[in-house]
Amino acid sequence: MPNKLNLLIPEDVDTLSFEMIINYDQKYDFTTLNTTFKNKPIICLDMDETVGYVAPLSFYINVWRNINNTNEYPPYDIFKNWFFEKGAFRPYLKELIIYLKKELDKGNINEILIFTSVDNYNGYVDYVARCIEKYCNIPENTISRIIDASYSLEKSTCGATIKELSVIGEDVILIDDKPWNVNPSNRVLGVPQYRQYCDPSDFLKFFNSKYHLSIEDAISIDFNNYPPDLNDYSNDRTLLDIIEGLKIIFK
Ligand SMILES: [Mg+2]
Repeated sequence: MPNKLNLLIPEDVDTLSFEMIINYDQKYDFTTLNTTFKNKPIICLDMDETVGYVAPLSFYINVWRNINNTNEYPPYDIFKNWFFEKGAFRPYLKELIIYLKKELDKGNINEILIFTSVDNYNGYVDYVARCIEKYCNIPENTISRIIDASYSLEKSTCGATIKELSVIGEDVILIDDKPWNVNPSNRVLGVPQYRQYCDPSDFLKFFNSKYHLSIEDAISIDFNNYPPDLNDYSNDRTLLDIIEGLKIIFK
């Protein structure tokens, strides 16, 4: 049983200023999480920088749509090998989701859902959820609901939404890289931000060579406008720690 896990759980969100938050590196014991439930808990996953670094995906989707002259979302295989399986999804996401699915099947949890500050009006978060399911090889709609920005009434100082877990219910655990934006704070497991960059060179293979130059131009403009974090996150074990902690709760 892990004693101290590499997780951040703010004790009192109200006392944390933004400056304190960005320097926040204190490690908290998993056991400070409130694990008293009236009903089986709903496990919520934040999307960006928690389950993976998928923010660049919307840019690549736009490139694909432009060239294919469609509003459809690309097939999973367009991103499978060079993006999702090269670190866009956080290490051990597969293990976490498969573990949660087993607990769902055993009746130990009520639901698995995504709770994000991103707007899902165009189905983007649904698309990412379906990609996670394909990546983990689990049935479609195992991630059964998306709670998006439209459920949040206020924004925090860093621009993300304040997540009120009460919109889902009392029996909730959220895994999130911005735990200070979550109320109540004793129902959130904070995780370090995950921002793995994936080299998009192999994306070009899916297009006729006459488009390659313009796609490369677009990618390089995007790269300069939004310089990626080039740190290597491949040794990140956060989600493995989360599984170990949840095993204690569901044992
Ligand atoms: Mg996040």
